[in-house]
Amino acid sequence: MNSFEAFKDPQLCRALLARLTAEATTPFRFMEVCGTHTVAIFQSGLRSLLPPTITHLTGPGCPVCVTHESEVAAFLDLAGRDDVVLATFGDLMRVPGPKGRNLKTAKADGARVEVVYSPVDALAVAAANPGRTVVFLGVGFETTAPAVAATIKLAREQNLKNFRVLSFHKLVPPALEALLSDPDINVDAFVLPGHVSAIIGATPYAFVAGKYHVPSVIAGFEPLDILTALLDIAGMLKNDAPTIRNGYTRVVSDAGNPVAMAMMDEVFAPADALWRGLGLIPQSGLVLRDEFADFDAMRLPGVELKETPPLPGCRCGEVLKGKMAPNECPLFGKACTPATPVGPCMVSTEGGCAAYFKYRLDL
Ligand code: SF4
Repeated sequence: MNSFEAFKDPQLCRALLARLTAEATTPFRFMEVCGTHTVAIFQSGLRSLLPPTITHLTGPGCPVCVTHESEVAAFLDLAGRDDVVLATFGDLMRVPGPKGRNLKTAKADGARVEVVYSPVDALAVAAANPGRTVVFLGVGFETTAPAVAATIKLAREQNLKNFRVLSFHKLVPPALEALLSDPDINVDAFVLPGHVSAIIGATPYAFVAGKYHVPSVIAGFEPLDILTALLDIAGMLKNDAPTIRNGYTRVVSDAGNPVAMAMMDEVFAPADALWRGLGLIPQSGLVLRDEFADFDAMRLPGVELKETPPLPGCRCGEVLKGKMAPNECPLFGKACTPATPVGPCMVSTEGGCAAYFKYRLDL
């Protein structure tokens, strides 16, 4: 058994589940804030094995899903410009915008949209299109932002004058604070994101336990990681001893990755940002610093965030806040399926609605 398989060991999983069932005598609701956790919990079958005292909520951990309506409208407007080539990760291609438009339909209508697998690939697109401005869509959390920052620096080194980034990056800790300060949201604990934490470490979450008394565990993505995190949470709740635990020490250090954080900090500055469902959250986004203004697509003439109505009938906003399970949305599995997505939570492979649909939960 290799070291990855060891984290899926069925015997250990069964033993941990038995301990969890014995420990979780008081019901609790935990939220994971990472699209990879959403999928891992369903894919491993854990969701259906959890004791009935534990309720799993999917939170705002899918970057494509939390990209605000007005941000989607802004990049669709950019795609419609003759002087622009959009470079994007593939998961944004089918995110619905106003009037049912998305990047795929825009491309069919003649827009120049290139799917790239890394931000650096967008530099090659820029080099191949000297007469146009190539705009990379910067959508992602702290996990993605350092690589985008490094790409911007590389563009400067390569003296590329036609490369820009539309930075809609989001930061996880301010979103947790927004959720915790909303009296309508009922969450007893968080399973914190392993990937984001690999960059920022454990320290930025201290307020979750310190100010809000909510126990939380940074977790990896294998069944044993998740079960151990839940067992930790059950123990902290039982003993009324909330704290932030790092359960993913093979990847996450408490101090995070200083090189990646320095890269991010050199290029980006925190700013207020709009989140789908959560609205405007102070200091929860990243904008390009003035020193990198030449690479900022938001500073191109005519680019702005306009007031944009929510998608008709879509309840993604409530799903992302854990206020509604995906299968409680009236459109789930009917008008809205992965083949005919009405909202981004059904488009993204990391979206809660797509996970519920794929794993046939309560269809
Ligand atoms: Fe939106 Fe579809 Fe999810 Fe309903 S099922 S919340 S319409 S993505």
